[in-house]
Amino acid sequence: MSIKKSKLKTIKALGEFGLISHLTKNFPKYSKNIKVGIGDDAAVIIPSKNDQLVITTDTLVENDHFNCNWSTPFQIGKKAIEINVSDIAAMGAEPTYVLVSIVITTKTDITWLSQVYRGIKQVCQKYKISLIGGDTTKGSIHMISVTMLGAANKPCLRSGAKVGDLICVSGQIGGSAAGYFGLKSGKKLAPYIKKRHLEPVARLDVSCKIAKFINAIIDISDGAGSEVKHIAKASQKGAIIYANRLPMHKDVLTMEKKLGLTKYYCALSGGEDFELLFTISKSNYKKISKLFKKDEISVIGEITANSNQLDLVLEDGSKKEIPGGWDHTRS
Ligand code: ADP
Ligand code: MG
Repeated sequence: MSIKKSKLKTIKALGEFGLISHLTKNFPKYSKNIKVGIGDDAAVIIPSKNDQLVITTDTLVENDHFNCNWSTPFQIGKKAIEINVSDIAAMGAEPTYVLVSIVITTKTDITWLSQVYRGIKQVCQKYKISLIGGDTTKGSIHMISVTMLGAANKPCLRSGAKVGDLICVSGQIGGSAAGYFGLKSGKKLAPYIKKRHLEPVARLDVSCKIAKFINAIIDISDGAGSEVKHIAKASQKGAIIYANRLPMHKDVLTMEKKLGLTKYYCALSGGEDFELLFTISKSNYKKISKLFKKDEISVIGEITANSNQLDLVLEDGSKKEIPGGWDHTRS
C-alpha cells in the first residue's frame, strides 16, 4: 500500500522510519546553528559563544502522568513540552532545542500519535524551539520522554537565596492538584481547575522578566511547600511562609472543601502548577513589581538565617512545619 495515497495509514504500514518522518515533518528549524537535525545518528549543533548550555529531561508515563480518558492526545503532547520549558525557565534560561523519545504499544493508533505530535509542534512553535531528534520504540505502555536544551548568559540556581529575600510565586497555585484529585474522584470540575491540570503552561514570560533580579528560582512541580524547602536546603537558609498569602483561585478552595482536603493542601503539597517560585531582595522586588499586573506575582514569605527554620504560619498565627510535596517514588 502506498504510504502517500492512504490517509489512514497504520503504524505497521508506515514502518519505523516512515513513522518518524510522518510525525516530524513540518517541524521548523528556528536556528542557523543546527548543522544536522533529524535523520542522522545524532544531531549536530554549533555551540553558542556567549551563552551557557542548560539541559533538562522529563518523562510522562501513561496512567501516572497522563490518563488517556482525561486528556486528549493534543493536550498530552503540549504538556510534554510545556513541563520541560518550565524547567528551562526555572534556570533563567531560554529553550532552544528539543529531543522527543516515545514508547508506543502494539495498539497505538496513528491518529492518536499524530495528535500528540501536533501538540508538541504547537508548543515548539510558540517558543521557537527546534526539534532535533528523538527515539521511537515499542513497549507495554505509552511514554513520552523529552530532553530540552536551553541557553542562559548566567543561569539562576536554587542555591542563591539570601537572608531577608522575599519568597514569591507567579500566578495562582493549587489548581492542577485540585483538578487531578477532582478527576480521580469523579467529581464535576470547574473549568479553571480542569484546564490547570490538563493544560499547564510554563512561565517563561515571567522568568524572562525577572531573571536578572532574582537570587534563587525553582518551578512548582511538586507543590510550593516542597519547592520552598528545596531552595532553603540548597541555599543553607531557613524560610517562613504565610498560608493566607498563598495565591489560590476560589475554585481550588471549593474543591479542597468538597474532597475533605486540608485547606492549602493543593497549593503546598499538590504540584504540577508549573508556576515559578523565587527569592528576591526587597529592593529588587520593588523594581520587578512595576513589570507585572496586580496579583501576577505574590509575596508568600521570607528567607531567614536559621537553616532549621521551615515555618508555615497559619491564619490564626500558629506555626507548623512547611509540609513536603508530591513524591513520585512513593505515590
Ligand atoms: P538510530 O537507530 O541510529 O538510533 P533512529 O532510527 O532511532 O536512529 O532515528 C533516526 C533519526 O530520527 C534520528 O535523527 C533520531 O534522532 C530521529 N528520531 C527517531 N525517533 C524520533 C521521534 N520520536 N521524534 C523525533 N525524532 C526522532
Ligand atoms: Mg535511536
